[in-house]
Amino acid sequence: MTRMTLTTLVAASLALGAGAAIADTTTANTTTANTTTATAPAAAPATPADVPQDDNLNATLWMQNSVEHKAVAMGLFDLARMRLHQALSHKGWTAVPDMEGSGYEKKPVAIITDLDETVLDNANYEASLVTRHTSFSPKEWTDYVNSKTSKAMPGAIAFLKYAEKHGVHIFYVSNRNKAEEPATRENMKALGFPVDAKKTDFLSKGDKPEWGSSKGSRIAYVAKDYRVVLLMGDNMGDFTDKAKGDAKARMKAFEADHKHWGHDWIVFPNPEYGSWESAAFDNDWKKPADQRRKEKIEALHPWSPKG
Ligand SMILES: [Mg+2]
Repeated sequence: MTRMTLTTLVAASLALGAGAAIADTTTANTTTANTTTATAPAAAPATPADVPQDDNLNATLWMQNSVEHKAVAMGLFDLARMRLHQALSHKGWTAVPDMEGSGYEKKPVAIITDLDETVLDNANYEASLVTRHTSFSPKEWTDYVNSKTSKAMPGAIAFLKYAEKHGVHIFYVSNRNKAEEPATRENMKALGFPVDAKKTDFLSKGDKPEWGSSKGSRIAYVAKDYRVVLLMGDNMGDFTDKAKGDAKARMKAFEADHKHWGHDWIVFPNPEYGSWESAAFDNDWKKPADQRRKEKIEALHPWSPKG
């Protein structure tokens, strides 16, 4: 998962490639019930002050509860299946033309997919943060991974089984770390993902010293021996290391790679966290939460009503 924390700020931000779920620290007002009098007045209706705010409430509600999100995910996996079908019959098809060497057309076919918020749905973790009014921490994230309670994104398993059936090597390139891999495998196996087949591999962050949070080195590692036909992820960093810049640099990279998006790079929506968020505050997770929120608001381009 791509996240930042207050304890491993920059490292975590780079490691996880996405932003942390930022919880507002506002605490709920509490009332003390009078249990000694039968004539105690009825509790007053809840006021806005009684309901803590959280920056991730709507995003989490959408990711966990909306049929819209499920429909989008299913549509994207269907798109991925069609693209894979095309790629299998088009030997020149590659998602990483800058990384493939000569003769790549004859190499075995592979796809690379991220895990969190791409094929795995961690909305229960996000919901836990929101309802407890707290934010991401690496230790608690590991506890969550070890709980093996992630769900499958709608359409993910059917797509990956389609790939497996057609002899495509599946590389799970995740910023979950090596220690989190056994529980991740068990969680995914129980859900029905292809994880133990000969043609599946996990390339976790830190498996090799040079494999940090940026995924470019791992993608290049796969491209040495495979024709990589699809990249799949929810964060720009799942596709290019150019995701770390400011909003302007990210837009420039986005436009330069326009031929890939929706073609051989399939992006899944994630309004909960991501490098899109941290780009708004210079990717500096050391800034206090209020400062980060202020800079996110300042990054907006509002319409101004007349009068
Ligand atoms: Mg992800």
